[in-house]
Amino acid sequence: MTTAKAQLLIVEDEPEIAELIEFHAERAGMRARTIHSGRLALEVLRREKPDLVVLDLMLPDLDGLEVCRRMKQNEDTRSIPIVMVTAKGEEADVVAGIELGAEDYVTKPFSPRVLMARLRNVLRRHGPIEETPTRAERLVLLGGRLVIDIDRHEVTVESKKTDLTLTEFGILHYLASRPGFVRTRDQIIAAVHGKSTVLSSRTVDVHVTALRRKLDTLSECVETVRGVGYRFSEGTDESQN
Ligand code: CA
Repeated sequence: MTTAKAQLLIVEDEPEIAELIEFHAERAGMRARTIHSGRLALEVLRREKPDLVVLDLMLPDLDGLEVCRRMKQNEDTRSIPIVMVTAKGEEADVVAGIELGAEDYVTKPFSPRVLMARLRNVLRRHGPIEETPTRAERLVLLGGRLVIDIDRHEVTVESKKTDLTLTEFGILHYLASRPGFVRTRDQIIAAVHGKSTVLSSRTVDVHVTALRRKLDTLSECVETVRGVGYRFSEGTDESQN
């Protein structure tokens, strides 16, 4: 999809971590550059518009969540995808970042291989144009074992039709539109809102449980991301846990 080398901007104040990411990114065929401060990063982002940002949340001047918020408020930087680097146990930050529009995250200490897999995933799904959820009439997933017919509201599991409620369908469609991307419960609620009954965080879990049961042998494709939410997994993503 990308012909030129992908431009990666690393926003990280710890030199060893920045170097590690740079090293692996360059080996993976990207062009990487590091900025050590949040404020400066915003300037550089506006000017250079890289393809992807790796954003540490713990920065000396302007914290990563604020950088993320400002990026999303600015027309020039809004569509640049962000992968956050968070401290262990800071699930509230992960939730906040994803709700601000970050695409994905890794937790320190992270494996460079996992980070590169996440970055490639984001680049693959993020064309130069702003995030557009799949508008296809049918989503064919897991090598055809799961088919979601959006117009007909039909889901086929291993060639057998399965009856989902509107809410279950909404949740599955939303997650499956962007495999590998974590969605918080609030995002799920917002996405299926209006299409079904009123949802709360807790009822999302109940619907997901019911959905998994109906997905039968494919139930594991709706993956729980502890403390954060859910994602659709194609089983190829390297897990961090
Ligand atoms: Ca830091």
